[in-house]
Amino acid sequence: MNITLTFGGDGIALLTLDRPNSSANLFDVPTLEELDAHLGVLEARRDLRGVVIVSAKPRIYIAGADLNSFTKDFTTEGLGRVVDLGHRIFTRLERLPVPSVAAINGVCLGGGCELALACDWRVGSLDKSTKIGLPETQLGILPAWGGSVRLPRLIGLPAALGIILAGKQLAAIPAQKAGLVDELAHPEYLLGVAKKFITKGKRPPPAPKGLINSALARPLVALKAKQGVLAKTHGHYPAPLKALEVCLAACGQPLEQGLALERAAFLELAQTPECRSLMGIFFLQERAKKLKAPGADGAGRKVGSLAVVGAGVMGAGIAQWSAARGYPVILKDIAPEMLAKGLKAAEKIFRDAAKRRVFTEAEATAGFDRIKPVAEDVPLTHVDLVIEAAVEKLELKQKIFRQLESSAGAHTVLATNTSALSIDAIAAGLADPGRVVGIHFFNPVHRMQLVEIVRGPRTSPAALDTALQFVKAIGKLPVLVKDSPGFLVNRILLPYMVESVRLFNEGCGVRQLDKLMLDFGMPMGPLRLSDEVGLDVAQHVATDLQNRLPKPVPINDTLQKMIAKGWLGKKSGTGFYVFSDKKGAKEQPNDAAGFLQATGKGQGQDAATLLDRMVLVMVNEAARVLEEGVVAAPEDVDFGMIFGTGWAPFRGGPLRYADTLGAAEIVKRLENLATEVAPYFAPCARLIEMGRSGRSFYPGESS
Ligand code: NAD
Repeated sequence: MNITLTFGGDGIALLTLDRPNSSANLFDVPTLEELDAHLGVLEARRDLRGVVIVSAKPRIYIAGADLNSFTKDFTTEGLGRVVDLGHRIFTRLERLPVPSVAAINGVCLGGGCELALACDWRVGSLDKSTKIGLPETQLGILPAWGGSVRLPRLIGLPAALGIILAGKQLAAIPAQKAGLVDELAHPEYLLGVAKKFITKGKRPPPAPKGLINSALARPLVALKAKQGVLAKTHGHYPAPLKALEVCLAACGQPLEQGLALERAAFLELAQTPECRSLMGIFFLQERAKKLKAPGADGAGRKVGSLAVVGAGVMGAGIAQWSAARGYPVILKDIAPEMLAKGLKAAEKIFRDAAKRRVFTEAEATAGFDRIKPVAEDVPLTHVDLVIEAAVEKLELKQKIFRQLESSAGAHTVLATNTSALSIDAIAAGLADPGRVVGIHFFNPVHRMQLVEIVRGPRTSPAALDTALQFVKAIGKLPVLVKDSPGFLVNRILLPYMVESVRLFNEGCGVRQLDKLMLDFGMPMGPLRLSDEVGLDVAQHVATDLQNRLPKPVPINDTLQKMIAKGWLGKKSGTGFYVFSDKKGAKEQPNDAAGFLQATGKGQGQDAATLLDRMVLVMVNEAARVLEEGVVAAPEDVDFGMIFGTGWAPFRGGPLRYADTLGAAEIVKRLENLATEVAPYFAPCARLIEMGRSGRSFYPGESS
């Protein structure tokens, strides 16, 4: 039983959502049918004053449609039936003779929000877990249980487009400001406030909301919304544009016609490759949340408190994130001024989050207070985990780990945040190298969801499992990688950055190269990315890979020459671009770097060749990573690249992209590049074998 129906002495019925054996309420066909049956009972009652819909889960109202069940039959017929079912039942709810109220506490997304929109009134709980919205366009579809039609009617076209086209989720207060909920209440008063709305009766039809919603203003609203979508998506995502079309066309039409438009658009979008890739990403995320260390599951222990060694960019970020999730953190640095700087950085992240209402001021203060700064040696016997994030030097890290071996408890797991050094080398000289594991966060820690868990050849199952459990407990998404140069993400990303520098060197324009990759779907061009990372850091990691990999993409001296001039990228104000101090000013290409460019050579290459040089160099490396067993499956590669770098999500990651081209085609193009440009483009053995046998990375899925 997912929904129970009870009747109170006050003439108000209560529909309580409580999916058995699950922390979330979701809509699948049986749940919708249950709701349908309850609506039948409600319609037949003559003594009813109204109905309130609540959830019995502490932090979830309805998380949305159950994608696991709906993707089992993703045919037009199967999906059409599901859309029709939702349309019929939510319209039945809307047309109940008595008023209905959604009393929303917790996550209310997608189908959950559409259920709420079909009610007469919505009351939102002020609990932090409350999030209301329609994220469907982020999955490559559009709200298709009435959301695309009902939301614009409720809050007006411009505000509705703001939510639907971006797939936004609103916290309680912004949801009320937008008109998505009628009233807010503390969780303990939610039901009482919801019941008061019953006395208001059925909701009157919406009053016209002025010029901005009029048919006259619609083309202007549409144009602005379309420009906004195109600027963000470079035209790669059909769902927001389709949703815009439907919202516009449904305005001013009878409900049924609007729903029919919504249905047709949904069925069309569901069959696009973009939808398949974006749904794939959703499942990759779910997969990461359930990740278990093979052979190590259950061996680890729960982390109660931790210490972070090194209060630089990464150490401060890791301490902040962990403290924000309730962990007491000792933050240790040898330099008091670095410690002060690190603390200031952590405090700023807390304050900014409080401004965005992620935390209350009190929560931000409590979180920050959980970080205990220390500049001297203190016993760490009581902490369960130490994460080292000191300077990237092997000897220094080895020394720190030797000290940790004596200052930490016998049970303490010792982790390093190294981006490039070998875990096994860091553990060398320890009595028990098995307690060392890599926990590689990405920069900035509070924004990047991915964390690489690096298993050294001697890492113990207990250390591995403890690291994995901790990363999941702080809400990051883990990927398990082998201790090998560059691990997963840097190994694939660096060759691409190196290749873009070489193309710049050959005479290609900075903007030309960055635009090519932005148009391909990357969140940032490769040269702009080098500036962001820091040219010194990029050079360091690229050199390390060159020295340690048997078949590296060789680096040239361009970055070295730029570093010698003090051009370190964004942090120094100059790199491939010059960054202005003026707020909001756009960075301009650094013309003074022209002396590093050979005139003409690169400019003769067509865009397709330039693109192949930058993209296929990654695909080749991604295939090699799999060939060498750095990760276990193609899903790990694609997941890591999407969540670690923002790799063109609609293409589904480098290996899914490779499948769309086909291995034989990739091999052909790489062989051409190896002959015409440089031998390092030679395809790896795995791609050649796949090209010959016609295999793909994701067998069983037609491209
Ligand atoms: P950073 O230079 O900003 O900070 C390093 C800190 O370590 C400094 O505050 C320094 O005083 C401190 N330190 C040096 N010796 C110490 C010791 N013996 N005990 C305690 N503290 C000591 O460096 P960062 O960018 O934060 O990088 C830290 C680690 O994280 C490196 O291994 C780096 O490779 C890795 N990493 C960096 C990034 C990045 O983008 N910056 C991303 C992922 C991983």
